[in-house]
Amino acid sequence: MDVTNRMTCEDAVRQFFAYLDRALAGEALESLEAHLATCLDCCDRLQFSRELDEFVKARVGEPAVPEHVEARVRRMIEIARGRAPGSGAR
Ligand SMILES: [Zn+2]
Repeated sequence: MDVTNRMTCEDAVRQFFAYLDRALAGEALESLEAHLATCLDCCDRLQFSRELDEFVKARVGEPAVPEHVEARVRRMIEIARGRAPGSGAR
């Protein structure tokens, strides 16, 4: 094993978000995966980062519409549809 290529936990953690975004390649990816293979702490941290990353991305993807506003809009659409002549044709 090449010792000069070893990553510290701090280095590994810094790469997590790039790793999760699949922005890592080549040596950086290899040394991070090599570190993860030997470091349980970082495996745990990566798992946490992955969940956090997914949570953040899911939240960002949501439209920023409060629930009661959305409910009102839906009602208006339903009313509009019900009143539209010859509805059902799509
Ligand atoms: Zn580590």
